[in-house]
Amino acid sequence: MKLKTIKDLKSLKGKKVIVRVDFNVPLDAKGNVRNDKRIRFALPTLKYLLAKGADQLILMTHVGRPKDCEKELMTGKIAERLGKLLKMKVAKVNDWGEGGLPKAKIVMLENLRFNAGEKSKNADEKAAFGKQLASLADVYVNEAFSNSHRKHASMVAVPKLISGYAGFGVGQEAEQIGKALVKPKRPVVAVIAGLKADKLNAIYHMMKIADTVCVGGALAYALRKVQGVNIGATKMDEEGMAEMADLVKEVSKSKKVLLPVDAVVAEKLDVKAKAKVVPLEKIGAGWMALDIGPKTIKLYTDVIKKAKTILWFGPLGVFEFAPFAKGTKAIGQAIAATKGLKIAGGGDTATAIEKYKLEKKFTLVSTGGGASLEMIEGKELPGLSILKK
Ligand code: ADP
Ligand code: MG
Repeated sequence: MKLKTIKDLKSLKGKKVIVRVDFNVPLDAKGNVRNDKRIRFALPTLKYLLAKGADQLILMTHVGRPKDCEKELMTGKIAERLGKLLKMKVAKVNDWGEGGLPKAKIVMLENLRFNAGEKSKNADEKAAFGKQLASLADVYVNEAFSNSHRKHASMVAVPKLISGYAGFGVGQEAEQIGKALVKPKRPVVAVIAGLKADKLNAIYHMMKIADTVCVGGALAYALRKVQGVNIGATKMDEEGMAEMADLVKEVSKSKKVLLPVDAVVAEKLDVKAKAKVVPLEKIGAGWMALDIGPKTIKLYTDVIKKAKTILWFGPLGVFEFAPFAKGTKAIGQAIAATKGLKIAGGGDTATAIEKYKLEKKFTLVSTGGGASLEMIEGKELPGLSILKK
């Protein structure tokens, strides 16, 4: 899917540009920005739009999950931080309905989710909010990849009314993940792991695209259980597995899918837990499988080494605790050492990659866990589809 990107824009002289960013940054109780990574991520796009002569940039983001218009979820402090990073004044507007926008070069709107129209299930209410936002500008830019799987007003309703373009970050992420899914260089290996059964959708779709799918995390043992293995007290998303019974069946009998052959087990999930390695059929009552064992590491790294395209979604064990971190670290390092396309996604996966300092070795560590996961599930993202060429 080719997107219209901001590179396709000619001069922006005299034009107002509304940019959907993802400045949903971690804030403290007073609303101070604790980590500005997401703000810095948007800077190249914002600077580019200014350099193209835009009259005004109107920025909009959601912050958290407001129930009311909570003070600590307001965008004022975020606007301040952006201003510091850009060395420009960023005007914060609370209510743009009355009196219009201030003349400033950059304005930041209040938290989009303070308006019920943003996420509304009522199509009219959503369209009305989208229309209100669209009326502020001539051009729309999406620089919020991580929100692109959501059909919110700021993602979909606005670019329905004014022409929409992908920012640099969105263009990059969509393109790189697209490369891994459409005519990828082979062999393609997907490493999919985690706790919940929802990853089954990704495994199932990757069974169609990848040459091998290596599965880890609690989900892998749950699939072993379906094959008749006793997994002891290993955590299992029973509800999710039951809901997806059809997928479970397909996945657990697929020849493309590799499952753990051994595990690091413990009786307690604790940093000081006594851990031991056992073959999979010897987990034992009362013991939990909390990481893949050395034989599984070898099995998976052998296929990873030969891969030209790798997609990694989910830590292979409870890497937050040292005794159960080896699998995630070893697989991460093995992927990092390959020469082809290497894409990772997911909040905890990104944390692991940062922890082991592997970030620079990856082609892409996706900023949007949910959005990139939906792409590898084979879904179209509404926020991207609307920017199609
Ligand atoms: P991501 O955020 O990258 O999408 P998930 O949230 O799906 O990943 O899964 C990561 C979580 O799964 C981690 O917190 C990790 O501790 C946990 N986990 C991984 N393996 C196991 C296991 N065998 N038992 C229990 N929890 C596990
Ligand atoms: Mg997670």
